[in-house]
Amino acid sequence: MKIVVTVKRVVDYNVKIRVKGDGTGVELANVKMSMNPFDEISVEEALRLKETGKADEVVVVSVGPAKAEETIRTALAMGADRGILVETDETVEPLAVAKIVKGVVEAEQPGLVIVGKQAIDDDSNQTGQMLAALLGWAQGTFASKVEIVDASKANITREVDGGLQTIEVKLPAIVTTDLRLNEPRYASLPNIMKAKKKPLDKKSPADYGVDVSPRLKVLKTEEPGGRKAGVKVKSVGELVSSLKSAGVL
Ligand code: AMP
Repeated sequence: MKIVVTVKRVVDYNVKIRVKGDGTGVELANVKMSMNPFDEISVEEALRLKETGKADEVVVVSVGPAKAEETIRTALAMGADRGILVETDETVEPLAVAKIVKGVVEAEQPGLVIVGKQAIDDDSNQTGQMLAALLGWAQGTFASKVEIVDASKANITREVDGGLQTIEVKLPAIVTTDLRLNEPRYASLPNIMKAKKKPLDKKSPADYGVDVSPRLKVLKTEEPGGRKAGVKVKSVGELVSSLKSAGVL
């Protein structure tokens, strides 16, 4: 079985985000970019499925600027077999990403597509679900365990309120990954060197007949309000009356 994994280049999760002076978005100039953390988990899961003989090829796809090649190379260094970069300098919204990935899926015919549950830059949590709808495929969202039963079905465990739910999905299917699914590996130096030679196809959104022009307009972007300083109370009575006056009790 072939697995397609989507990987997005985003601002590194350790970077302290700064909003642009004109409020049109966040500052990206000279900011460290990395693979979206949920996508690292997706790559790891695909590699584990390959290592246990459940999959035979892992193909990673990124939609983004030429520099997104670095993100694909990171996935190749972790162990993925080949990459597809769908190059565009536009900010591509989840619907357009889903349409492009649908085109990739139609060409590649995978048994499973693994998508991060959310990109940490736009926090949309839409792409996997839209892709499943566009393809008419089953989806197991927010997976914390993926078990391929046979070529026709998989069991997906999901964290739901108050416990774990396991669902059976028909393959081919879309799985979106949650944080607790696994701990992604680091790429070793020799594998980083080897990844430079792994195959990487370059495409454009037009190759999949997709118009990436935006449908949404960001009206403004603001820094979160600063936290108010805390107060120290001297007694339980004072704590209770402060909570009452704050409307908490
Ligand atoms: P979102 O719906 O934007 O929160 O993103 C959810 C997931 O969709 C991400 O974790 C990625 O796996 C995938 N995705 C979103 N945008 C892209 C992109 N430009 N290139 C590749 N994958 C993407």
